[in-house]
Parts: sequence; C-alpha cells; structure tokens
Amino acid sequence: MDSYGKLYTVGYAALEQIEPLQLFLSDKVLLIDIRYIPSSRWRPEWSRKRLHEKFAPNYQHIRELGNINYHSSDLPIQLVDAKRGVAKIVQLLQQGYDICLLCTCADWKTCHRRIVADLVEQELADIQTVHLSNNDLCCLL
Ligand SMILES: [Zn+2]
Repeated sequence: MDSYGKLYTVGYAALEQIEPLQLFLSDKVLLIDIRYIPSSRWRPEWSRKRLHEKFAPNYQHIRELGNINYHSSDLPIQLVDAKRGVAKIVQLLQQGYDICLLCTCADWKTCHRRIVADLVEQELADIQTVHLSNNDLCCLL
C-alpha cells in the first residue's frame, strides 16, 4: 500500500488567532491557500503577503483551486481549473507532504474546500480529510 501525506483543511474565519495554526503546522505541514483572492481586508494577517512572510517556504497560493463565485453563496461553486489544481495537491501528497488547505469560510461543509477535498479523495482512495476547527487548534497554545 502506498503511503501519502495527510490532508487537512481550515477556514480562518473560525479561528481567533493565527498562532495555534502555526503551532499545529509547525514546519512540517504545507499551507496551501485556495482562495480566489488571497487577501483579507478585515483580518490583514491572513493576506497572502503576510502569510508568505510567516510560513514561507511552506506557503503556496494555488489559484486554480479558487472559487470564481466566492463572492456569492447564491451562485454554484466553480473552481478556476479543478483538474490542474487537484493534480498539484495529489502530487504533493504522493511525495509525502502533509497539506492544509486554507480558505476563509468557517464552515467546511459549504466551503469550496470540501469540493477540493472530495476531488483529491477520488484520486487517492486512502486519503481521509481532516477539517480543522478552532476547537482542534485553540488548546495547543
Ligand atoms: Zn471557503
């Protein structure tokens, strides 16, 4: 049986602070930003620039996995280029990297990261996604 990295997801709107996530990821888990627009006006510490400063070289933004319709929950989730984006994630997992997908949304069930995780699970049958919540992380501090 092949062994792959682990797949986590997180939505920062559910997190009170960034530090517990840093502790959790340590220097072992890649933080993969899958927001269509990787910036945050109300919480600037979650912008691509700041995340890059904090997490590089373990931070990447994969635009192909962004949801074109992120601004409206009335519109269906539509990924920029699901095939290419998912292939990148699958390749990293096959190389043994642990990955945490990052979006804004507090609730993974309605977030496009659920779609991305489902697509990855279809490619790699042994992967079981762990959706992190504030409760999983806050106790680490
Ligand atoms: Zn989302």
